[in-house]
Amino acid sequence: MNALKKEPVKIKELETKKRIGSFEEVIAGYMEEEALEEASRCLQCKNPVCIAGCPVEIDIKKFIYQITQKDYKGAYSTIREKNDFPSMCGRVCPAEYQCRKACVLTKKGSPFASEQAINIHFLERFVGDYGIKNSLEIPIKKDERLSKTRVAVVGSGPAGLCCAGELARQGIKVVVFESLHKTGGVLRYGIPPFRLPREILDFEINYLKRLGVEIVPNFIVGRTRTLDELFREGYSCIFLGLGAGTPSFLGVNRENLCNIYSANEFLTRVNLMSAYEFPKAHTPVNIGNNIIVIGGGNTAMDAARAAIRLQKMNGIAPNTTIFYRRTEVEMPARRLEIAHAKEEGVKFQFLVQPKGFTGNESGFVSKIECIKCQLGEPDASGRRRPVPIEGSNFETPCDVAIIAVGLQANQVLTSVTPQLKTDKYKDVVVAPDTMETSIEKVFAGGDIVGGEGTVIEAMGMAKKASRAILGLLSKK
Ligand SMILES: Cc1cc2nc3c(=O)[nH]c(=O)nc-3n(C[C@H](O)[C@H](O)[C@H](O)COP(=O)(O)OP(=O)(O)OC[C@H]3O[C@@H](n4cnc5c(N)ncnc54)[C@H](O)[C@@H]3O)c2cc1C
Ligand code: SF4
Repeated sequence: MNALKKEPVKIKELETKKRIGSFEEVIAGYMEEEALEEASRCLQCKNPVCIAGCPVEIDIKKFIYQITQKDYKGAYSTIREKNDFPSMCGRVCPAEYQCRKACVLTKKGSPFASEQAINIHFLERFVGDYGIKNSLEIPIKKDERLSKTRVAVVGSGPAGLCCAGELARQGIKVVVFESLHKTGGVLRYGIPPFRLPREILDFEINYLKRLGVEIVPNFIVGRTRTLDELFREGYSCIFLGLGAGTPSFLGVNRENLCNIYSANEFLTRVNLMSAYEFPKAHTPVNIGNNIIVIGGGNTAMDAARAAIRLQKMNGIAPNTTIFYRRTEVEMPARRLEIAHAKEEGVKFQFLVQPKGFTGNESGFVSKIECIKCQLGEPDASGRRRPVPIEGSNFETPCDVAIIAVGLQANQVLTSVTPQLKTDKYKDVVVAPDTMETSIEKVFAGGDIVGGEGTVIEAMGMAKKASRAILGLLSKK
């Protein structure tokens, strides 16, 4: 059949009933026959525009062709030339705004990928998982002349991991310093296991260890050591992949009541500290009858989907609602995440803006006060501004609130390093071609540079920095 006439191969998902009682992965991934069918839809364009849509420029056309030839090992090598984490990215990349949006099968001018666009991310995941199942390793050629050179990487999120991998592959001795006790950054403490199973994350991170990368946890650069001290210890260059881990708050009355969490704290307790296994795990998380999540981004969806699962697992009738001050159209979250949240029973209340909280005599939140809004003129983001409707205030019961209204740069390091130039958002300023900061031989990438972005964008910046670092060190 003509490839253009073939229908996209739909992905299978865990039954909704089974989802909310567990943290099991929701999206099942293609079986071989499904991957072959989906790959056969690719037009093998003369000008494969999809590649420019990928921040790390995977040769998408080539790896899809290799799938059609059942050359999965070849497809794995093709992806790994550009991306060391295909199973992870195949699961979390918002492909509808990246490679799939660029695919010729997306209608011109569409704000995100058309349904017809090739499911590039599911094919990438299929190949990545094939690599894991078959323990495929990628041959590397280390440059022995670089073996005595040491580079420090600060932060083990996607930016830090990617930079570490790129440099270690060339023979450089890389040490990653991570402030938390586990590696992965948002991949581990933010994204729940029902979207990114921990075995996948562990496998892909362990690849770095096999490359010889040393990972030092519980080490806060800016506290445990300063940048100057790291240079004095013999590191030739430093890469900063600090992320944007500081939550923003609403700034409303009584926001400091107990059981009001930032989404980062809530998700960290659940994802990193396994709070859903308390008391087997040490860290608890309080779950109540009325959980309200405030925000409209992916973090809000992850928090709400985790919260409703915890209600069910704790024998509480699921009742989790997302409050958002605009309408569904303006929500920045991925459409798939919104759809999954709805399927799992999360409720949505649009055009409402929190004004404050009320607490009980023990200091725990009991109610949230909001005002209704209507949409006004577009703001700087291009989205229509929420305008409060005077006199429309209302109160509703709330015994857990989770605030997911944005993240900012963490200033632990920048506050003790005045030579490190930052912008008005406290993001680190870099030279766009090299990612070098205002301090010579200190480079940066990921969310600490651009603000909240995506995993693959963070990796794209890290790759650029690693090329510049390599250029510098090879000259020596
Ligand atoms: C809940 C949530 C869900 C998301 N879902 C998606 C998704 O589905 N798809 C997607 O593409 N993107 C998603 N994102 C965005 C994406 O995760 C980030 O853009 C990406 O993780 C940024 O990578 P990074 O390496 O710059 O920072 P991070 O992942 O934040 O990692 C930074 C690391 O640096 C460590 N660190 C910070 N300061 C120091 C210090 N001074 N010393 C030592 N270590 C330090 C931190 O502990 C952390 O481990 C999500 C974000 C959140 C919050
Ligand atoms: S643009 Fe779409 S159809 Fe063309 S090569 Fe890329 S994935 Fe295949």
